[in-house]
Amino acid sequence: MPIKTNDPARKTWLDVAPNSDFPIQNIPFGVFLTRDDIVTIGTRIGDYAIDLGALHQLGYFEGIPLTDDIFLQDTLNDFISDGKKTWRAVRNRISEIFKKDNPALQDNEEHKKIVLFTMDEIEMQLPVHIGDYTDFYSSKEHATNIGTMFRDPKNALMPNWLHIPVGYHGRSSTIVPSGTPVYRPMGQTLPANEKKPIFGPSKLVDFELETAFITTDANVLGEPIAVSEAEDYIFGMVLFNDWSARDIQKWEYVPLGPFLAKNFASSISPWIVTLDALEPFRVPSPAQDPQPLPYLLQNGDHSFDIHLEVDLAPEGEAPTTVTRSNFKYMYWTMAQQLSHHTVNGCKVNSGDMMGSGTISGPTPDSYGSMLELAWQGTKPVPLNNGETRTSIQDNDTVTIRGYCKNDQIRLGFGDVTSKLLPVYKSKTKR
Ligand code: MN
Repeated sequence: MPIKTNDPARKTWLDVAPNSDFPIQNIPFGVFLTRDDIVTIGTRIGDYAIDLGALHQLGYFEGIPLTDDIFLQDTLNDFISDGKKTWRAVRNRISEIFKKDNPALQDNEEHKKIVLFTMDEIEMQLPVHIGDYTDFYSSKEHATNIGTMFRDPKNALMPNWLHIPVGYHGRSSTIVPSGTPVYRPMGQTLPANEKKPIFGPSKLVDFELETAFITTDANVLGEPIAVSEAEDYIFGMVLFNDWSARDIQKWEYVPLGPFLAKNFASSISPWIVTLDALEPFRVPSPAQDPQPLPYLLQNGDHSFDIHLEVDLAPEGEAPTTVTRSNFKYMYWTMAQQLSHHTVNGCKVNSGDMMGSGTISGPTPDSYGSMLELAWQGTKPVPLNNGETRTSIQDNDTVTIRGYCKNDQIRLGFGDVTSKLLPVYKSKTKR
C-alpha cells in the first residue's frame, strides 16, 4: 500500500501555520484527555487535536478492518499490534478526510464539533503502556567524549563499541510525558578525594538529548528479527530526555552499569511520529568501520535527517538554546539496534521503547548533554541572562525540540519539556 500521506503538495482544509511541526503530511499518534475528561486516541494537524475514537464511531474509517473500540483506549498498544498495513491504511484515510477538496467532514459542522479540539482544550497523556524500556549508547561522538573524560583519550571507545550496539535495560515506571515535573534525586555519591560515600541530593543533574522508537509485537520467544526486516516492526519515534544524575552514576555504575542515576525520571514527547512520515527524510548513517558482523549488515539508507535542539530556561527567564544536534549522527541504526536486541531470541512487545542513547554531533556546540557541553564542569555554558550552567539547577526547565525540513515540507515532533524541581518533600508526616 502506497504512503499517500507523504505527497508534499497535499493541503488540508484546517488552518496550519507554515512552520508547524504538524502539517497534513505528519499525522502522528497520541493519547489525550478531552474537554469532557474522556481519554481517547488521537492525531494532530496544525494546532488541532483530532479525536480518532469519535471519527471511528461516526463511520469515517469504514472499510478498514478495525475493532470498534480500537481508538477508545487509554494507550496505543492494541492499535500498534495491528501492524504496519493498518497504521498505513489509517494514516492514508485521515489524510483523505482532512485534504482540502474533501467536503465530508469539512462541511459537517455537527461532526466537526465532536471530532476537533484545540490544543488548549486537551491534556496529552503517555501514548503507550511501555512494558519494557531499553537504552542504547549508539552515538560514536558521545561514547568518545565520555571515554575521553573518564578513561583514556587514546582509547576512548571500549573494544566492543564498534562491533555491538551497546545498551542496557532501563526502567519504564518512571517514563513520563512532556510537562511532568521531575524531582532532583537523592542518592549516594563519593566526594572528590574522599574514600567514603555520602548521602544527599545529587549535585550533578543532567539531561540526555535522545530519541526513542516504539515497537510492535515483533517476534516470539527465541526468534531473532532480521536486520533487513527490523524497520517494519518500528511504529514510530518520540523525543526523549533521559534525565541523569552524573555524581550518583559515577559512584554506582561499576560493574553492572547505570541504576538509580538513570531511573528517577525520563521524559518523552507525547506524539509518536511514524517511520512512514519520516520516509522523505531518510539519509545514510555514518560509514561503519570495521564492517559489522553479517547479522548487522545493512544496505541502503537507514537513518533520518532530524534536527534536534535543547533549550534551558531558568525559572521565569527566556530560554537559551544550549545545543543543536541531529539524529543522522547516530553510528548504529534503529534497525541494527532492534536486530541486535533480538538476535539471542529476546521477545519484543507492542509498546516497548528503545532509546537511542545521547546524540552528540561532531562539534562542541552539538553535544547532547551538559556533561559534554561543559566538559565535566571545566567550560561553563553561558545563558542569555548572564548566568552559566555546568549542570541543571532547581526550577530550570529543559526542552528538546526535533523537526525535519526539506525544500518542500517541514514536519516535527513538537517538544518534550520538563522542569527540575528541588528534592521531593513529603507533604504528610509519617
Ligand atoms: Mn541515556
